[in-house]
Amino acid sequence: MRLVTFRHAGRLEQRVGALRDDGAVVDLAATDPLLEGGMLALVAAEPAMLERARAAARIGPAVEGATLCAPVPRPPKNVFCVGKNYHEHAKEFAGSGFDASTKEVVPEAPVVFSKPATSVIGPGEPIPAGLDPTGSVDYEGELAVVIGRGGRGIRKADALSHVFGYTIVNDVTARTLQHRHRQWILGKGLDGFCPMGPAILTADEAPDPGALRLTTHVNGEKRQDAPVSDLIFDIPTLIETISAGITLEPGDIIATGTPAGVGIGFDPPRFLRSGDVVRIEVARIGVLENPVA
Ligand code: ZN
Repeated sequence: MRLVTFRHAGRLEQRVGALRDDGAVVDLAATDPLLEGGMLALVAAEPAMLERARAAARIGPAVEGATLCAPVPRPPKNVFCVGKNYHEHAKEFAGSGFDASTKEVVPEAPVVFSKPATSVIGPGEPIPAGLDPTGSVDYEGELAVVIGRGGRGIRKADALSHVFGYTIVNDVTARTLQHRHRQWILGKGLDGFCPMGPAILTADEAPDPGALRLTTHVNGEKRQDAPVSDLIFDIPTLIETISAGITLEPGDIIATGTPAGVGIGFDPPRFLRSGDVVRIEVARIGVLENPVA
């Protein structure tokens, strides 16, 4: 099942829906009032509620004029992100000269940073590139994990049982700020620099997340294309590493890193400009497309 957060036309309230294969959104709480309460409530609920959601998705009516929001519009804490987690990207990033953090190309342990919850925007929302005064805005298409059952000290072997599902994140980055401030939060945490969506593919439909494949197009030109199995540190390793001392909670997001093909990998770099459109696709999750303002 693909779950979305959406708004009815002309209404402010965010509701949980199911995204059908034909693109229609089903309002789950319209069929089953127990499903009122938003995505975080559903993610944190007992598995029986997910079964109710499945049942409602099968019979519920399609919504006219639904607007999709980020599936988790306000994550419980900052969005966890992982730097340099694909070999070819680690090489292009080292070669670009934009990495002020270290001389090593492939890290010995996961490089974890975060983006504030205020950076999250939904599908179709414009990326406010003007917030970067240095004109160095870049895209990073990434598969993101949505944590279901929380915990601390989660072992690799149990990690996938803590995954609620998978979505797509664009880890938008102001490269000059990333370089200048060494720590990456100022370059990557700007408002609107974390497009997310369109849907959460529930974990039962992706028992092997490594089999998912990610592509990124800018204005129709393919820039990134890689299987998630190319990750240097796989999803269980990331969950074990982060949860070793930080309690993961339902709805926490882990963006797993970006493959080769980002704008700074080109010589000269190809940064985003106003009017560009970034389209990230993971088969079965869907397409996350955002224009650049
Ligand atoms: Zn990234």
